[in-house]
Formats: sequence, structure tokens, C-alpha cells
Amino acid sequence: MANIDRRRFLGGLAAGTTAWAAGGMSLLGTPLSDAQGSGGGNASVPGRTPDGLLDPAFRPLPLGSIRPRGWLARQLRIQTDGLSGHLDEFWPDVAQSQWFGGQAEGWERAPYWLDGVIPLAWTLGDAGLQAKVSGHIAQIVDGQRPDGWYGPYPADAGARAYDLWAILLANKMMAQYHEATGDERVFGAVESSLRALGAKVQQAPLYNWGRYRWFEGLIPVYYLYERSGDAWLLDLARRLKEQGFDYAEYYRGEDVTLATPRRGLWTWAKHVVNTGMAVKAGALAWRLTGLEEDRTEPTRMIGLLDRYHGQVTGMFTGDECLAGKNPLQGSELCAVVEFLYSLETALGVLGDPALGDRLERVAFNALPATFTPDMWAHQYDQQNNQVQCMLNPDHMWTTNGPESNFYGLEPNFGCCTSNMHQGWPKFAAHLWMKTPDEGLAAVAYAPSEARFESRGVPVTVALDTDYPFREGLSLDVTAARPVSFPLVLRVPGWAEGATVRVGGGAEQKMQPGTFHRITREWRGTTPVELRFRMRPAVPLRYNEAAAIERGPLVYALGLAEDWTRINADKPGRELPHGDFEVRPASPWNYGLALPEGKPESGLTFAERPVGDRPFSPDGAGMKALVMGRRLPSWKLAHGWAAEVAPGVQESTESLEELTLIPYGCTNIRVTEFPRVRG
Ligand SMILES: [Zn+2]
Repeated sequence: MANIDRRRFLGGLAAGTTAWAAGGMSLLGTPLSDAQGSGGGNASVPGRTPDGLLDPAFRPLPLGSIRPRGWLARQLRIQTDGLSGHLDEFWPDVAQSQWFGGQAEGWERAPYWLDGVIPLAWTLGDAGLQAKVSGHIAQIVDGQRPDGWYGPYPADAGARAYDLWAILLANKMMAQYHEATGDERVFGAVESSLRALGAKVQQAPLYNWGRYRWFEGLIPVYYLYERSGDAWLLDLARRLKEQGFDYAEYYRGEDVTLATPRRGLWTWAKHVVNTGMAVKAGALAWRLTGLEEDRTEPTRMIGLLDRYHGQVTGMFTGDECLAGKNPLQGSELCAVVEFLYSLETALGVLGDPALGDRLERVAFNALPATFTPDMWAHQYDQQNNQVQCMLNPDHMWTTNGPESNFYGLEPNFGCCTSNMHQGWPKFAAHLWMKTPDEGLAAVAYAPSEARFESRGVPVTVALDTDYPFREGLSLDVTAARPVSFPLVLRVPGWAEGATVRVGGGAEQKMQPGTFHRITREWRGTTPVELRFRMRPAVPLRYNEAAAIERGPLVYALGLAEDWTRINADKPGRELPHGDFEVRPASPWNYGLALPEGKPESGLTFAERPVGDRPFSPDGAGMKALVMGRRLPSWKLAHGWAAEVAPGVQESTESLEELTLIPYGCTNIRVTEFPRVRG
């Protein structure tokens, strides 16, 4: 293909209009069938660029194409009014970052913050935050040297050993900014930086953070390649992969299956944030290699993490190295947001609906739980059984410190303070994706509006729902002119009996765990009504403890809370960004009395209004009622709820009705319960 054709072809990709689909033929010469773009990733032959980069199953819409509605809009507003919208005004490592010409930290913290607030500002459409971000980006571009190295890097960075992780991160962040704004200076800055990086890794291979996070570099590399067609970028991608840590090999060994002991050894390979990030490595590598073992790697990794370190929230533990299944171990906030982004990325590349189920599970449970409802304070480590959060020198973490569990500005370490911002905004920005055949896929559900073009016709899809607190979702598809395209709907694996009704027609069944395709000519506004029936389930987990789930939500015993401000004299802890301990003001040590053989029949669910703060104890949109008895033998040990004993426990205390609320709405809680006789 001549270079000019190639550029046009790749330009088409960048605009989200895959040239091969528009032409009716794939690059491999295979005529398109209706199966093309059915998701699944294996039902069709994926397209390939002239240099061999495989097409993803779905492409995310350009940043800013999706706007939040309903509770999601409220949540992004809370985040903007909380720490995310203000961190650069007072926290030295961002406010006086070397990236912005200051003298404080010049490594990952400012790029981390921008990596989250760019999608926040452009998804919410907040002009004030956008202007602030643009000012900071201009400082970064202005500070870049002619040799491509960004401002914070020493003049001889090209000549001596330098861990390249923050460069990979910065370019990933800058690519998002370019996508949101089309600012060509920023495109040039990324290109120049990647050229410097390419020269650097030829003489000195990746090591430490750069080596364990090599695949993050593939994101800006692919972004530029799909817009420029410059083949050197894929050479750089291959070199990063060659030099990077081989997680697939490591996940074939025994070490990853072992819980790191208390006060144990910190390792790169079991570092929980590296782990959350690495879940997408296979998917990104597959676009280069086309190997089946790369394509299946994310699912294999998740399976192993579930088996040896999994929590009912869909997360795995790591405090801060992989820590086993005990619900008292912690999961670091950075790992939560990175795992979410990995799921979004892998879901786009592979089109596997199960990744969408997991994405929702983590986003609706583990993500909101680890913030205060106003999103000014966060934890470093959250626990599933977390009956109090305090400064605790007698902690049981593997390698983290005594501050890791309280809510504050920078408990334990400031990485989460700078990296937490990407969680909600990237989730919102990945709810809808474009299919290769000019259609739109709903890969995860939350109230939102998406704008895209199908065959040149502007289309808007608006989703109004209180899902995940409700079963019903109302969609309006509005086409500016009549146009045919597939609407592709993810049907969650748990949604037995799911139905869809299009344009007031008959109710149709949908198969759980698939993408359901509706191909028709869309004209005017067409309502599409979805219902995902949520049935309760009671999985038995660590030491046979019982957990409660229904649809994408996990339910936990919310406790009355006693908040104490601490560290008031420490710099930066002026309200509203203070540090807080939380202790229980109601009993927590209950066992659940569930009917034998059919435990879910002992649960009753009742709707409550979804609050202004949807993820707060008062704002919880759903509750579950269940009978339980107090277990006087279940006490605190080392400041935590002691481990649940296996088997059904005896208790002479009277039966009580307990109210559970969604895990994501709690600040302190019990999630995995002992079982008691009824
Ligand atoms: Zn962190």
C-alpha cells in the first residue's frame, strides 16, 4: 500500500470509521459477514493494518463523546468538587511539580493526576477544569527539550540509566489530551518523546518500573501509529515487549499462587498495582503478535488471581503484594483503578462480555467503597471485612505501613493520592464503543449519553437508569437521518431471563454472557427497554464465610460510624482534605442464619431512593434484609475483625433482622460472614 493510501486508511481508523468495514472487505480479503463485530473476538477474522497491527473488537469513542447522566453525572460532579478538582491547588507534589516548572516531585505524580482529570474534565464537560488542565499541559509541552525529553529529566537522561516508567505514563496521558482536544502541538510532543524513548531503549533496556509496566507504552504508541502510519512506532512497541517482564511466564509458575506473608518480601512481580496494570498486557501484545496465548492471557490471569487472591468485589488483595483470599487483607486503591482501566482496555481489544461483567463488579463495589462519600479522602488499602479504620501499628499487611487503612489525604504513600482520579472518568468514557461495522456497543451500563456517527449520520444514544440499583434500563436511539447499524448490547452473565423491547415491539429474550445484536434501520427516536433480572446468590468464600451478591452488587452489613479527625496539625490536612479514623458505633459481629440448601431464600431486597451521593450509607439505592445472631466469640484481633472460623457456628443470642447495603455505599462493614444456626 502506498504511503498516502496508508495514511488515509489509518486516518479512517482514527476517526473511528474503519476503512475495511466501509469498503465491505477486510484487509485479509474476507468479505464481511454479520458475524463481524459480534464481539467475542473469535467469531470473525480481525482486520490488520499494513504493518500487521490487528484491529480491536471494539474501539472506544473519542474522549468527550460520552457524557454522564443521572447518578453517574452526580458522582463525577462530587469527584470534581472533591480532591480531583483541587489537588493541584495545594498538594506540593502536583502544585509544585517539576513537570509544571516547580521544584517538588518530577516523576509520576503530576502525570498520574492529569491521566485522571483529563477524562474527568472532558467527560463531564467542565470548562473550568478543562482550562486548568490545558494550562498544565502547555507547561509540559513548553518544558520539553528539542531532544524529546520532558522537563523533569536531567540533561544527560539519554546517556545514563534512567527508569522510563513515568515517560510511558506521561505519553499515555498526553495521547488522551490530544484525543480530547486535537491539539497538534501535543501530538508532536508525544511523537518527539517516543523517538527519544526509542533511541534510549536501544542502548539501555528497560528496568524496574519501566520493565514491569512496559505495556503501558503500547497505548500511546498505537495511538500515534493509527494516526500517522509510521512503522517505526510498531518497532518500538515490539522492543518494549521484548524488554518487558513476561507476566505470562510468571503466571505459569507457583510463586504467584502463594500469599505474601505478614511483613513479607516486596517483589515487583507480586506488586498489586503492577498486577492490576498487567491484566491488559496480553490483549495489547495480541494486536502485535496475533498469538492465541496472548489473546487468552487476560482471562487466564484473572482466573488465577480469583483462585488465589480473589475477593467477592471482583478485586484481588495486595497490601502491597498479592496477599491471599483472607477478607482482612487489603487491596490498594491504585490497583483498583488500574485493574478497571485494564478491563476497559482488554474489553475493547478482545470483545469478551465477561470482562464487562468484571468491570462493573469492580467499578460498583471496590471503587466507591474506598473513598469517603464526598471523595475528599481515600484509603490506601480497603478490606472486605473492615469494622474499623485506624492508624494501626499492629497491622497485618504484607509490606504496607500502619496508615494504610484510614481515610485521608495521602495515607501510607502518595501514589493513590495522585492516581485515584482515573477510576470513574475512564469507566464513564468506556461505557460505549464503536463496532467494526459502524455500530455501537454497550459494554458496561450506567446512565449516560453517547454521540457517534454511523455511515456519516449523527446518532445519539441516551441511557436513563438507576442500574446497578435497579433492573430496568431505558435507552433512546436518535438518528439524524435513517441509517442501518447494529446496536450491540452486553448481556451480563448473571442476567438469566434478560429481555429487550425495541420501539414498543414484543419483548425478546437475550442470552446471558453474550453480546446481543439488534440490526435495523434506525429513524427518528427509537426507545429500547432492557431488563436484567437480578437474582441473589450466596457464594461461600474464605473459611466458608458467606457473602451476598445480587446482579453486579455485593451487599455488606453497614455499621453506625464514629469518625475522629487525626493528623490535624500535619501540613496539607486542612479541611476539607483531612485525615480520619472510623470506628463502629453499632455491633458488627453477626453470623448469618440462612436456610440450609437454599440460602438465597433467606434474603429480601427492597428499593430505596438513590441518593445525591449514590455511594454513601444514606444514599444507598437498595437494601437487603437477612436474619442473623451475634457471635460473642467473634472479636477484634490486632485491631481488625478476627478471621471467620470455618463451618456453622453456635450462638445462643437471639435472632435479629439485619440490614445490608451495597458494599460500595459502606465506609466500614462486614462482607464475608460466619454462618450460624437459624
Ligand atoms: Zn497507590
